[in-house]
Amino acid sequence: MIRILTVIGARPQFIKASVVSRAIQAADGIEEILLHTGQHFDANMSAVFFDQLGIPQPDVQLDIHGGSHGVMTGRMLAEIEAVILREKPDRVMVYGDTNSTLAGALAAAKLHVPVAHVEAGLRSFNMHMPEEVNRILTDQISDRLFCPTDTAVRNLEAEGFRNKPVQILQVGDVMQDAAMFFVRHAVAPHELPSELLTTEGHGSSPTKREGDPSFVLATLHRAENTDDSERLTAIVNALNAIHRALAPVVLPLHPRTRAAIERTGLILQTHTINPVGYFEMLWLLQHCGLVLTDSGGLQKEAFFFGKPCVTLRDQTEWVELVEAGVNELVGADQARIEQAAASHFGHTVQDHAELYGGGKAAERIVTHLLQRE
Ligand code: UDP
Repeated sequence: MIRILTVIGARPQFIKASVVSRAIQAADGIEEILLHTGQHFDANMSAVFFDQLGIPQPDVQLDIHGGSHGVMTGRMLAEIEAVILREKPDRVMVYGDTNSTLAGALAAAKLHVPVAHVEAGLRSFNMHMPEEVNRILTDQISDRLFCPTDTAVRNLEAEGFRNKPVQILQVGDVMQDAAMFFVRHAVAPHELPSELLTTEGHGSSPTKREGDPSFVLATLHRAENTDDSERLTAIVNALNAIHRALAPVVLPLHPRTRAAIERTGLILQTHTINPVGYFEMLWLLQHCGLVLTDSGGLQKEAFFFGKPCVTLRDQTEWVELVEAGVNELVGADQARIEQAAASHFGHTVQDHAELYGGGKAAERIVTHLLQRE
């Protein structure tokens, strides 16, 4: 029996790990110990995903959140180390690029426990992003590098990983697995204004037909935007202007962004709602006419649902979407955001190339985990 210790702690990691956990449960010869660091702890940032996605309750629940990056990562490192010593896993598995990712990988590597990194090889080439630091360091100490895209493989090759005794495995993107598997449960968020619900099944606006693009779906939480008042102001102004002139903007607001907006004294005039569960997010993706975001995950989910994306960043790790012309990077420039939103709203985009593996990533990951060497 192969024992895997999975370390997760933040919203996107719950979604990614849910599909791999299910594939582990369906396989023989492998068992998972689930550790939640506590990095995200609000019910609507954590518990809702465990409930909706059927993730087993964590075997180990830590309570580490807040504080500086150093304090948070350091506390996680110490506590995860103790868990590894106690549980003696054959391997530690980490996801993505958060402080939980780095702490889990580092604790394992120092104890000579091999590390598998899901979402290896992604790069923004911006070392000011905490996520970039976390993912580069995590890749350096992992020996199974599960890459979601060909670009990610090329990034690792450019950094010399082919000369290291590690396995670089292009398995596709677990987020596509999640979107494809859970879409049948999509449900409208209860906080959504009734005029945005389509007629079918909801009986609200008689003028709106099922399939009409009715709103812009926006999310905002990257530190580069929330912690820079100039960028935050430009983005909030753009969202307000789009809401007034183009289409209603639905904004499930991340707690960090809510705090930053309150601090800065900005006023959002959009349909601002609390963070939603994954099933509600899938509904918003199905029904929107455009995604406006600085999230990594949302850029791809827009594509999975045939929606164009305007990205509120200067770089992206998902460059294949920009190359395919379905994602436009506009940074935090108010005029560019408004122009791009107007030119993409309501268009449909298509996945001709199966860029993200077609929903089989979790299965492939488990097949590789079952191979000891
Ligand atoms: N998400 C969600 N509810 C929300 C906002 C995001 O379920 O209110 C989901 C989203 O669909 C995606 C994941 O959370 O699957 C992305 O997480 P986030 O944007 O926090 O992180 P990133 O992808 O930028 O690392």
